[in-house]
Amino acid sequence: DIKPRNCQRIVVLGAPGVGKTNLVRRFLGEEFQEMYEATAEDFHRKLFHVGDETYQVDLLDATRERNFPAKRRLSILTGDIFLLVFSLDNRESFSEVRELLSEIKVAKTKLVKSKRPSRLPVVVCGNKADLDAHRVVSRSDVTEALTRDVAFFETSAKLGTSLEAVFGELAAMGGLPYETT
Ligand code: GDP
Repeated sequence: DIKPRNCQRIVVLGAPGVGKTNLVRRFLGEEFQEMYEATAEDFHRKLFHVGDETYQVDLLDATRERNFPAKRRLSILTGDIFLLVFSLDNRESFSEVRELLSEIKVAKTKLVKSKRPSRLPVVVCGNKADLDAHRVVSRSDVTEALTRDVAFFETSAKLGTSLEAVFGELAAMGGLPYETT
């Protein structure tokens, strides 16, 4: 698993069905899909190029029971920037994100011991904000659980809500030339 020079790795993690694929589709300028294709594969990778730079988006269905811990750990260790996704209508997916966040903190703190970044390279999305009637995770649940060094947005991959802000934040972390309009 060789990482090319100038390659930034964006790792997208979260429970199955929370909207990771559709957020990535939006990020890459593709259209939203109503269809949910649950596959046996829990890992997807996309490469894209901007000028001379290569960016890699890795997407992993993170489930404590399902993944081999090593697979999850490797994604975390090799990632530069993390997009953690849960669904506002699914409490279990929120605890998954909290779990992932503490794993990332442990891994990244060990690696950059001396020059620990003041802000973690993590963006958390509470997705499916359009399904307001089904919401079970409140904004205060989130702000109580997350520390202030983590950026949080309530998003809708379906309607496009807050996606500019999320992508702008990711871009700023990775030096991506993403342009907000
Ligand atoms: P993944 O398994 O995390 O990659 O989730 P997908 O992106 O495949 O989405 C799972 C299902 O949720 C699909 O049926 C999507 O159409 C739907 N979905 C994803 N994002 C949203 C959203 O923001 N709002 C609504 N209402 N549905 C969404």
